[in-house]
Amino acid sequence: MDIKLNTHFLDVKETYLFSDIAKRVKKFQAENPGREIIRMGIGDVTLPLPQSVTSAMEEAVKEMSAKDTFHGYPPEYGYDFLRNAISDHYKDLGVTVSPETVYVSDGAKSDLGNLPDVLGDNPVIIPDPVYPVYVDSNLMNGRKVSFVAGNKENDFLPLPPADTNIGPSVIYICSPNNPTGAVYSYEGLTAWVNFALKTGSLIIFDAAYEAFITEDKPHTIYEIPGADTCAVEVSSFSKFAGFTGVRCGWTIVPDSLESDGIKLSKFWARRQATKFNGVSYVTQRGAAASLSGQGLADCKANIAYYKRNAAALAEVFTEKGIYFTGGINSPYIWLECPNNMGSWEFFDSLLNRFGIVGTPGEGFGSNGAGFFRLTAFGSYENTLKACEFFKTL
Ligand code: PLP
Repeated sequence: MDIKLNTHFLDVKETYLFSDIAKRVKKFQAENPGREIIRMGIGDVTLPLPQSVTSAMEEAVKEMSAKDTFHGYPPEYGYDFLRNAISDHYKDLGVTVSPETVYVSDGAKSDLGNLPDVLGDNPVIIPDPVYPVYVDSNLMNGRKVSFVAGNKENDFLPLPPADTNIGPSVIYICSPNNPTGAVYSYEGLTAWVNFALKTGSLIIFDAAYEAFITEDKPHTIYEIPGADTCAVEVSSFSKFAGFTGVRCGWTIVPDSLESDGIKLSKFWARRQATKFNGVSYVTQRGAAASLSGQGLADCKANIAYYKRNAAALAEVFTEKGIYFTGGINSPYIWLECPNNMGSWEFFDSLLNRFGIVGTPGEGFGSNGAGFFRLTAFGSYENTLKACEFFKTL
C-alpha cells in the first residue's frame, strides 16, 4: 500500500496508563490469591439505571415492535422531545438555551473528538492536568496545543494566560474537572469568558460532571454573561443518569457564535448530518425520562450515593492534612501523594498495603506527577473500608 496516512496520529503519545495498571493489579492478584481489591481507579458508574428510566426505555421498545409506533432513522440532531427536555433542564439552571441549539449525540466523547472537524487551524489552549481526549483529538488533526498549568498554587483551576499577544484560540475548560474534581467559581469562569471575548477565541466547555455540583458554582458556562457569543457546551447523560453503557450526550452550539460571517452552528449541523445518523429512539426516551419527574429524582439519588462516598474520602484526607482537590462537587478526589512519593510509587504502595487501586496523576498530563486520582463510583462499603486504610497513611 502506498497511500498517505494521517501521520499526525504519530504525534499522539501512546498511553500505557490503564494497561500498566491492569498489569500491576494482575501481578498482585497472582502473588496474593484471595486478597480483596478495592477499585477506585475507573471513572465509570456502578449503580444500575433507575427503573423509572428503564421503564421508559421498555415502553419505547414496545413502540418499536408495533407497526404504527415503529421509529426508523432518528432525526440527526435529536427528537424534539429530548431537545425540549434538555432546553428545560437549562431553564432550571437559570439560563435560556433554545431547543434548536441542542445537538443530541451518542456521548460527550464523540462530540469533543469531532468538534475539531469544524474548526480551522487555530492555536489550542488546554489545562494540564485534564481529560486526555482534548489533547489527543487536536493532535490527530495536526493542531498546535499549548497548556495552562493546574497546580497547588491555583488549586488546579488555572486562569487565562497573562500574555497579551495571544490571538484567537480554541480553549478547553472542564468544570467540574476530570481528574482534579476542581470546579470554577463564577469569577474564575468569568475571567475565561472575558479572555475569550477579548481575544476572539472559542471556549469548548465540558460540563459532563455538572450534576455533582451542590455548592454555589456555575453549572453551565451560559451562566456567565457573554458566553453565548464565545462558547459551546458539551454535556452527557453518562455520569448524571448512569448512561455510560447506553450512550447519550449533547452539545449546545448557540446561534450567536459566528466567525467571519459564518455561523458555527451551520458547520456543526452539516457535520453531524453528514457523519452521524442520530441516537436510537429507545435511548432518547430513556434520556428524556432521566430529566423529569421520578427519573430525575432517581438520578439525583444515585448522584447523592456517589457524593456520600466522595465526602467520606474528603473527610479522611482533611483530617490527615493531605492536600487534595475535588470530593465536594465531583466524584473525584485528587490528592497529593504523601511523603513526596511519585504517583506510581504511591500506586504500588496502596496496592500492596491495602489492595486499593487508584490512578496515577501523570495519566492526565505532566502536571499530574506526584498526584493521584481516586473515584467515588465504588460501593459505600468499599469506600468506607478504603477510608479506614487511608487513616493509617
Ligand atoms: N468529559 C469528561 C470530562 C469525562 O471524564 C468523560 C468520561 O469519563 C467524558 C467527557 C465522556 O463522556 P461520555 O460517556 O458522554 O462520552
